[in-house]
Amino acid sequence: MIKFDQVTKRYPGSNEALKNASFTIEAGELAFVTGHSGAGKSTLLKLIAAIERPTSGTVLIANQNISKLKPSAIPFMRRKFGLIFQDHKLLYDRNCFENVILPLHINGITGNEAAKRVRAALDKVGLLHKEKAMPITLSGGEQQRLAIARAVVSRPSILIADEPTGNLDASYAADIMAIFHAFHQVGVTVIVATHDALGMSTTQNRVLHLNQGQLTHTQSGLDGVHHE
Ligand code: ADP
Ligand code: ADP
Repeated sequence: MIKFDQVTKRYPGSNEALKNASFTIEAGELAFVTGHSGAGKSTLLKLIAAIERPTSGTVLIANQNISKLKPSAIPFMRRKFGLIFQDHKLLYDRNCFENVILPLHINGITGNEAAKRVRAALDKVGLLHKEKAMPITLSGGEQQRLAIARAVVSRPSILIADEPTGNLDASYAADIMAIFHAFHQVGVTVIVATHDALGMSTTQNRVLHLNQGQLTHTQSGLDGVHHE
């Protein structure tokens, strides 16, 4: 589903943020990307989501080389992804329902079908009873759950979350991780970047560890730890 082959990313006027990274994430996997701040986690996620292009090497998403995508094909590719960031960029002048319906409207889905999907998404994150609330009245954890509802309302096959629990108390963070586990359970490919180990300690999930742009460990629940 996602295959990196010798991928290097260098930003203009900067060192290599990612160096010769090679790995595969299969459809339906739950993978954590770990490492210190500045290790290259966001860069790796942005390459997966075709927000950034590699300086060298190839990134394949569903067998498509993202460097060879025509600009017109990129919006279509992005629909495969639900993106969640620490800074969740909610619209504070609209209520929860209106925040979540926005991506559907952008994709031309309106009316009852859109409303049904919004309520299903709010339900999955435990916020159905808050549909008319304004985001500012929600706790930090609830706001992050709202951002997740917005990211999943278009039913993406791949969920990508960059430090989704970074600003949250441990109990809220655990709620968020439980939601990601639930999406994984129903077959969604989930990739979470985190600098803390929360939510992965007891799991059998995939861990990609970065140290200064270098992938130092890729671990899978099936075959243990590989040193690259
Ligand atoms: P992490 O998510 O692990 O904190 P990043 O991928 O954000 O790491 O950053 C990796 C390295 O790339 C850092 O040294 C950072 O300063 C650099 N970097 C990230 N984004 C840019 C950018 N747009 N331009 C220049 N350098 C960048
Ligand atoms: P750093 O120099 O950034 O600390 P290392 O590659 O030396 O990077 O590893 C740092 C941390 O990664 C250690 O605390 C180690 O316990 C942890 N670690 C080791 N193996 C894994 C793994 N498979 N997945 C995630 N973290 C790991």
